[in-house]
Amino acid sequence: MWRQQDEKELSTEEIKIGLDILHKLGVIEIVLSGGNPLLREDIKEIIDHSSKHFITTVYDNGSIATEKIDALRNADFVAISLDTLDEKKNDYIKGVLGAWKKAMTAIETLQREGISVGVSPTISALNLNEIIDFTRYFTSRGIPVWYCLYWYDYPAKSRLFEIGKKQDDFEITDRKAMTEVCDALMKMKKERRGVFITNKTLAALKKFFLTGQRTWKCRALQSFIMVDHQGKISGCHVREPVTTIFELQNNWNSKKFENLRKEFSKCDQCMYLCYIFYSLHANVLSNLEVLRDQWKNARTFISKMRKTNN
Ligand code: SF4
Repeated sequence: MWRQQDEKELSTEEIKIGLDILHKLGVIEIVLSGGNPLLREDIKEIIDHSSKHFITTVYDNGSIATEKIDALRNADFVAISLDTLDEKKNDYIKGVLGAWKKAMTAIETLQREGISVGVSPTISALNLNEIIDFTRYFTSRGIPVWYCLYWYDYPAKSRLFEIGKKQDDFEITDRKAMTEVCDALMKMKKERRGVFITNKTLAALKKFFLTGQRTWKCRALQSFIMVDHQGKISGCHVREPVTTIFELQNNWNSKKFENLRKEFSKCDQCMYLCYIFYSLHANVLSNLEVLRDQWKNARTFISKMRKTNN
């Protein structure tokens, strides 16, 4: 996660060293998100280095991607965040006038340039009823869709960084509608490519919205970690930093990390969809499950998996 103009921000070389450390630890996927990682002048060098070893996804809200086409050529996926096809509504959700136009332009431009662009809506009460049409619109144009779920950070004394904010009109209260969206996405996955969410994730979401029960245990600090722009590491962004990227190898098998993993596995404080996904798909067997689940998108996945093993 990057912020702008922080004198403690990692240098290019430090980031490369950090990525090499993650590679040695067996990490297979890197997600570069913001703030906005594209603000860094050396972002091309970072993406090029990252994509040698990892499936590398870069997030942008559409504000910078079109100016960084060359930097993005080696990214495996570029996710442009866009919540609805309704321009006014999207700009309201994003809180930025013109956000919709920029995101749509970015998606079109990146696709024209041959970059693996996808669109990433955050599902909330405001777009829940549009998610299926939204998915149909983009997938029928060859643009995959992968999903976030509206959530906000709980109060904490110390955390790595903040992303969510509480906004009542975003909160999904129509549980039935949410479960119907899960069912419809499962059905769509059988019919078309580019619906990037596993059945296991959809089934877990459905059960949660129907019964309030979680079918997963959080795997923070096991199957996913967060690294901030200074190289600090925590299990998830809501938790306080526990080490740095340069000390990660020394800590990975420590008692301290083992205890933290136990603590995190009992936590049920968030519903961020990426954390749920990585908790549900947490080992090699799960990678195969993801592959099988996403068989329509398998060519992409196989080539990336091959690359990460080299
Ligand atoms: S459930 Fe996991 S990812 Fe969510 S706040 Fe708790 S430790 Fe973090």
